[in-house]
Amino acid sequence: MEYQVIARKYRPQLFSEVVGQEAIVTTLKNAIRMNRTAHAYLFSGCRGTGKTTLARLLAKGLNCFNVGSEQEPCNQCSSCKEIASGRSVDVIEIDGASHRGIEDIRQINETIGFIPATARFKIYLIDEVHMLTKEAFNALLKTLEEPPPHVKFFFATTEPHKIPLTILSRCQHFTLRRLKDEEIQNKLGAILVDLKIAYEEEALAIIARRAEGSLRDAQSLLDQAIAYETSLLTVRTISEILSLSPQTLFFALDEAGGQGEIFRALEIAALVFSSGKNLAHFLEELTLHFRTHLLVKCGGKVAVYQDEYAKKGHYYREEQLVHLLEYVGEAIATLKETPSERTYLEIVLLHILQSHKHLSLESLVHRLLELEKRVKEVPEEKPKLSPQVQAPTNTQVKEQRHESSYDTLMYFAAKELNGSLKKG
Ligand SMILES: [Zn+2]
Repeated sequence: MEYQVIARKYRPQLFSEVVGQEAIVTTLKNAIRMNRTAHAYLFSGCRGTGKTTLARLLAKGLNCFNVGSEQEPCNQCSSCKEIASGRSVDVIEIDGASHRGIEDIRQINETIGFIPATARFKIYLIDEVHMLTKEAFNALLKTLEEPPPHVKFFFATTEPHKIPLTILSRCQHFTLRRLKDEEIQNKLGAILVDLKIAYEEEALAIIARRAEGSLRDAQSLLDQAIAYETSLLTVRTISEILSLSPQTLFFALDEAGGQGEIFRALEIAALVFSSGKNLAHFLEELTLHFRTHLLVKCGGKVAVYQDEYAKKGHYYREEQLVHLLEYVGEAIATLKETPSERTYLEIVLLHILQSHKHLSLESLVHRLLELEKRVKEVPEEKPKLSPQVQAPTNTQVKEQRHESSYDTLMYFAAKELNGSLKKG
């Protein structure tokens, strides 16, 4: 049997199989049920989120001869089968990137007058529609203004902002969202169960994170991983496939710290450990990484990854980097005496991620000064004392007030500073 890539083999054939775009699916099914479909639809969103899949499903749903109870296409009738195999004469798929000229649109305009061969609607699905030229869009606009009732246009694009407003305003526009990591993870898990391949859950988590919301990217990575290791999908396999260089891991660590995703420390530790790297060496390279950050922050230049360092540098404060340099240096020495290197590495990475949460000395001082200013601004008011007691003078009260406010202020400042230093 011919090998089919996962993305194709597991492409949703039913609305219920679409991952993560519930609201859009419901709207489309309602439109089919109530027989109220628009003339033109635009599906936009990042790559691999299911734009053309949804467009094809809608095409199937509209042209199916035996639509099911939930507005699902039957996938059995001639129309469904033809659309699935790309042979339908009534559903015409056009790649906007390679057919972007006015001539291509003229050809469409010439054929729209003909009624569909067998199905209910003649559907033009233009992928990457933002690639059309200005003239092509103008030619298309004329048709969109008054399309024959049997014609539908489905557009898909990753860059809706490049489409002229005149076209946009004639489309029902759906924006597909990036898929969540767990949605991708669940889908990959289901695919592996179907393929009868065992897996480590963490391996799927890594793929999902790397895919950044694109199910297709995740499925391609899964293809690669399965080709590499056919019986069991492990974290080790994935890290080899993704060839996670220390540099990639370091930037991932920066990102995790900046985004406050403390849990990722454990994931990165797992990757480093399973890749069989010498942990002391890894930490030495990490020191260099922080050193480079400091250098770039101070205006220095590096030969490689300059942009990346400039970008990720925002996650750090200078004093934090100095602290981390010291800390990781000490950690390398301690690592040799620790009974479990892996656990120790986890602690070190957790500590690094935690360091993003500490208040900087600068901001502490700033807050102190602010508080001090506010204490000085406390308005004078008459003390409420019984007439028997000799009332202190206004100045006395003010001084007392200042003293006690200062005490409280200094107490809190000391507490906070102490905590910060301890954590640091
Ligand atoms: Zn059908």
